[in-house]
Amino acid sequence: MTREQVAALLAYAGRIDPRTAYLDAAETAAQLTNWCEMLAEVPATAPGGWDAGAVLHRHVASSPYPVLPVDITRPWAAHRRTLLALHTDPRPDVDPDDVAGYQDAMRAQRHAVATGQAAPSSARQLTGGPHPAVAGRIPAGRTLPAGPAAALAPFRPARAAREAAAAAGRPDAFAVSCGWCRAPVGEQCRRRTNAAGDRPGSWTRRRTPHPSRIEDAAARTSRREHAA
Ligand SMILES: [Zn+2]
Repeated sequence: MTREQVAALLAYAGRIDPRTAYLDAAETAAQLTNWCEMLAEVPATAPGGWDAGAVLHRHVASSPYPVLPVDITRPWAAHRRTLLALHTDPRPDVDPDDVAGYQDAMRAQRHAVATGQAAPSSARQLTGGPHPAVAGRIPAGRTLPAGPAAALAPFRPARAAREAAAAAGRPDAFAVSCGWCRAPVGEQCRRRTNAAGDRPGSWTRRRTPHPSRIEDAAARTSRREHAA
């Protein structure tokens, strides 16, 4: 805050809480100097609803003690942390090969958020599903277009087997947990290795589900069809 802003804040404090108003000119000047020193880093207003006047008003309304500079600086420190937590360091409009310039631009962005001069720039969330230009190429219920999914199939044998079973109308073994190897729902069946213990590394993933798991899934499907 500038000296004028601090003076205005103190005048406001003296108006709503007469205990903080001094009649002596020397005392008033000393008070202004102290407050200016403490509030130099605190903005009067900042993004996210920060308003030093409102913070002061809240203090006077809720606390039995006269307001001190620290009653403004502490809430600002908390608000500043919140702003910085929301900031995600977006790519600055600087040539990335200019390392020093790029880092300076990043720091300048951060500093602007930390001092309340700029609003934090949060990462944009994908809320509307895939882009319309891509949506048409993705089959319903899948997250990958058919081409890349087929190209990845050799590297995702369990997933490929699951999709093949769904396409052929066979029951989905991954919809139930395995009673034999205790693999949870959605995870591949396991085979013990020679390693001791029950930690990762003491078993490997099987490409195919245990036969009892397929039977469980089939029984569950037929039960559901029977109930329907
Ligand atoms: Zn199993």
